[in-house]
Amino acid sequence: MQKITIAIDGFSSCGKSTMAKALAQKLNYSYIDTGAMYRSVTLYALQNGLIDHKKKHDFTKLIEELPKIKVEFIYNPTLHASEAFLNGKNVDREIRSMEVNENVSAVSSIKEVREKMVAMQREMGKNKAVVMDGRDIGTNVFPDAELKIFMTADNMVRAQRRLDELSSHGDYHDINDVLQNLLSRDHADMHRKKIL
Ligand code: C5P
Repeated sequence: MQKITIAIDGFSSCGKSTMAKALAQKLNYSYIDTGAMYRSVTLYALQNGLIDHKKKHDFTKLIEELPKIKVEFIYNPTLHASEAFLNGKNVDREIRSMEVNENVSAVSSIKEVREKMVAMQREMGKNKAVVMDGRDIGTNVFPDAELKIFMTADNMVRAQRRLDELSSHGDYHDINDVLQNLLSRDHADMHRKKIL
């Protein structure tokens, strides 16, 4: 059967990755969680003091350090899924923290970060047989994808999904804080200057 590219766009916490993972498994395609890539760069910035607890940041230094940041996905046969690795370390859980949630939109608005991530995504998907999810996949990364899906969900359902994910890692929050973070990320992600 002919291999295709499947692009799943949509807001955060709508179930994009759940659906993308299931599709990839069913079709024996690879799955790339592009949000995890931006989250990994954000984690790097937090771990290296380039963003502090008051969201003060040094993005010039982050841009300088971009060549040192290696993000990759490694398949975990026990989970039947790939996990995100940052410079050789499994960060799949850490990148879903509230601290990363609060800073990822700012990091993903940096032109140089987007250029690097988009180039990596195109490289990862160049042989097709891939399911990729993220907010700009069907529009910018793979505008010619054979199948494009846009997902959305009720805001409270989205907040509950994110809350459940955080709680499953022992990271407990108020649903209203989680909802506010989702809404402010929606706004930041939709209104950032068009770079690519
Ligand atoms: O989907 P997820 O919540 O993991 O995405 C985290 C953040 O990464 C988004 O809020 C957005 O700022 C950024 N992102 C992006 N482009 C993508 C995927 C995610 O800018 N393709």
